[in-house]
Amino acid sequence: MKIAVVGIGIAGSYLLSRFSEKHEVDGYEFLPLERFDAVCAWGASKHEMKRLIKPTGLNFEDYILHEGRIMRIEIGRLEHAVKLKGLCTFDKKRLILDLVKGCRVKFGVSPSFQDLRDEGFDLIIDSTGMHRHLLPRVRDDLLLPTVQYRVRFTDPPFDDFYIHPFSKLGGYVWYFPIGNGEAHVGAADYFHRHDEHLAAFLREHPGEIIRKTGRPIRATPPSLCDPFFVELDGVSLVGVGESVGTVFPLLGEGIIPSLQCAEALIQNMNDLPHYRSVILQKFQLYDRVYRLLRKGFKGQLSSLRQMFALWSLYADLKRNEERYGMSISIIDMLKTSFRRRLDRSSRNMASP
Ligand SMILES: Cc1cc2nc3c(=O)[nH]c(=O)nc-3n(C[C@H](O)[C@H](O)[C@H](O)COP(=O)(O)OP(=O)(O)OC[C@H]3O[C@@H](n4cnc5c(N)ncnc54)[C@H](O)[C@@H]3O)c2cc1C
Repeated sequence: MKIAVVGIGIAGSYLLSRFSEKHEVDGYEFLPLERFDAVCAWGASKHEMKRLIKPTGLNFEDYILHEGRIMRIEIGRLEHAVKLKGLCTFDKKRLILDLVKGCRVKFGVSPSFQDLRDEGFDLIIDSTGMHRHLLPRVRDDLLLPTVQYRVRFTDPPFDDFYIHPFSKLGGYVWYFPIGNGEAHVGAADYFHRHDEHLAAFLREHPGEIIRKTGRPIRATPPSLCDPFFVELDGVSLVGVGESVGTVFPLLGEGIIPSLQCAEALIQNMNDLPHYRSVILQKFQLYDRVYRLLRKGFKGQLSSLRQMFALWSLYADLKRNEERYGMSISIIDMLKTSFRRRLDRSSRNMASP
């Protein structure tokens, strides 16, 4: 097959690497090589990453920058520690560039469907993430704004993962260590409080800002990202990764789900309707979480409904602790999601 992969993020680079053995495959990335970056905090569970990366011939362990032991969660004045089970940061940019080593990739290019059709491709893959450059737009797309800094600290404020969730399930500040006293420090928030929270964090924990990035994260689940594929003039166009919503909406975690999505495309590239149903089935949980978030954003979540939704989410996460890279405890989840009340009670405790 003659295949075009448009968008060389984690999903596109993975496909390029896996397809290049058996097919004629070309990659296109709109950022020029000298400005290429993997905009992300680079956090993922090493267990699932090792499994996914193995067939490419690379060893995921070679890219790990920091292995987590404890994630600190700050809620109001309370602090809580979650035991980690494989959550790490890794050099995502270097991994992407190594995955495409030896493959044909044009950087600084953003081809249209017509350009690629005229070049005679049989299959065109839209792996452009939230841009979804080639596929039709998603209606009512839920895109969460983010901002992130790469910061060098002379005296790092934390030696491990740290997050500070905001009220109404809107988002959180994160601090992900990436080695040598550096960290990705960022924030995402549906209610646009991310800039102010991040600025407050950096006032409290100043460091040298090396790079500022950020782009919205798609929180719309795959079931609402149709169409997944389009047949035009005898050419198939199909989406993979964040372009079709494979991001866990509660956390904005998209690396592993996008790789899993790419893996499903490899297994079903000759049957795109089946690929779509595999993805819809695999990411059903994201629908439930998306509905929970939508209700939370509108302030329509009763405590009872929230408890029920949390319980079903807990059951799923608990079964997959290594996949998420952390010990999942219902107590932690209750503390995090009912943070508004905790905030209030911790303030009351602090007042004379
Ligand atoms: C600030 C931030 C922090 C994050 N932190 C984490 C984290 O720690 N862990 C985690 O699991 N997930 C995280 N995510 C989400 C995760 O980065 C993405 O969900 C995941 O990378 C999606 O992979 P992808 O390959 O589908 O898309 P992307 O990684 O977005 O790759 C898309 C590629 O397509 C290119 N492109 C875009 N438009 C065009 C075009 N018109 N033509 C050609 N190329 C184009 C882009 O330049 C990019 O290289 C974070 C996201 C953000 C924004």
